[in-house]
Amino acid sequence: MGDFVCETLEVNPAGHLSVGGCDCLDLAREFGTPLYVMDEMAVRANCRAFRQAVETCYGAGGKVIYASKALCTKAILSIMHQEGIGVDVVSGGELATALAAGVPADTLMYHGNFKTLAEIRQGLAAGVGRFVVDNRLELDQLSGLCEETGRKADVLFRVKPGIDAHTHDYVLTGQIDSKFGVALENGEALDILRDAWDRPGIRVRGIHCHIGSQIFEVEPFVQTVRVMLGLMDEFRQATGKVLEELNLGGGFGIRYVDEHRPLPPARFMEACAAEIRRFCSERDFPMPFVAIEPGRAMVAAAGITLYTVGSVKTIPGIRTYVAVDGGMFENPRYALYGSPYDAVLAAAPLAERVRPVTIAGKCCESGDLIQEHLPMPGVRPGDIMAVMATGAYNYSMAGNYNRNPRPAMVLCREGRARVIVRRETYENLLERDEIPDDLAP
Ligand SMILES: *Cc1c(COP(=O)(O)O)cnc(C)c1O
Repeated sequence: MGDFVCETLEVNPAGHLSVGGCDCLDLAREFGTPLYVMDEMAVRANCRAFRQAVETCYGAGGKVIYASKALCTKAILSIMHQEGIGVDVVSGGELATALAAGVPADTLMYHGNFKTLAEIRQGLAAGVGRFVVDNRLELDQLSGLCEETGRKADVLFRVKPGIDAHTHDYVLTGQIDSKFGVALENGEALDILRDAWDRPGIRVRGIHCHIGSQIFEVEPFVQTVRVMLGLMDEFRQATGKVLEELNLGGGFGIRYVDEHRPLPPARFMEACAAEIRRFCSERDFPMPFVAIEPGRAMVAAAGITLYTVGSVKTIPGIRTYVAVDGGMFENPRYALYGSPYDAVLAAAPLAERVRPVTIAGKCCESGDLIQEHLPMPGVRPGDIMAVMATGAYNYSMAGNYNRNPRPAMVLCREGRARVIVRRETYENLLERDEIPDDLAP
């Protein structure tokens, strides 16, 4: 393991933190803070690791698809496409971003538990590669639109395999209580597959699942493979028809803090592939086409956020609050679900951590914290702090609480930093406000 949770971070000859060859103090000076910083080669390395693992296990019978909700910008999606990775979208906005980035529509998968009619229409018109249908209403709407427009839709169904792996432990029951997809145990999944098969315009390709996020073990995936193939076999026995595609979703864990021990992508792929081969030869079932959908694992550890430290408030006997110029408006993950993060000072990233601090944002909420009780070196106002592994679900979850403009994002490579998202301005914040005449100043 390297010195930092993000293994591609380095200390440069000046002793400063550097990303993709760019000195973080220079980045903060040039682009301002808060600033999202992405390491281009780290993103590409993640793409290559997943692609290689899938190719080794399945050859041309497998594909990596990036769950763009983790970080959705034109530049990032363009990198994914260059690396031979497909793209998942969940909304008209993500679809528009992918198309604007030049991602071919036939490499897109349209997910989501509620696609509006307008969104289904947009997906059909664009010619997305797969619709992942969540429920019967959506199936009705999609097949209706196919009939109306004469278009065809290639469809997977979102299935709840009854495995919940949202934590370190996983459980095999209880997942029927989820807003996503159709259930297995009450026959809902089998019913919708039968119903869909003969509908005009609908080509049923297979099934999809996504069992959780930040998973560190192979066992929940292996169990999922077993359950999903069981459904495919059950469908074959009931109808004589064969589903060709198995999409196992994402959820591969990453290292936010030192204790996290993510497995290399190859370990997940090898375990799943072995189970698929075993099942298929035992039941004489044809090998399905296998897709996986990493989101977080592709981008999280390739990103950091730079902040300028404001006040440092020590409450004797209680704790020390270190205020930074960001907060829940640009990283809501600690406020939402207590996500762990590590942080260092950009000017002295290896300095001894002498006392625990709580990193607080600038929003008007006591819960607006980035991290609590994190051991840090002495921190002073004006220091540049780097919070690590913020590449996923930060920018994509950002908002404008307290009318804070969202940060810029730069992409660093070989000492060069390029802006891939411009910093929001006050003008941007105001440009959609309308003021009726009688209220005008
Ligand atoms: C969120 C999501 C993913 C990606 O999850 P990560 O934990 O970021 O890998 C993949 N597929 C679907 C359907 C999802 O909803």
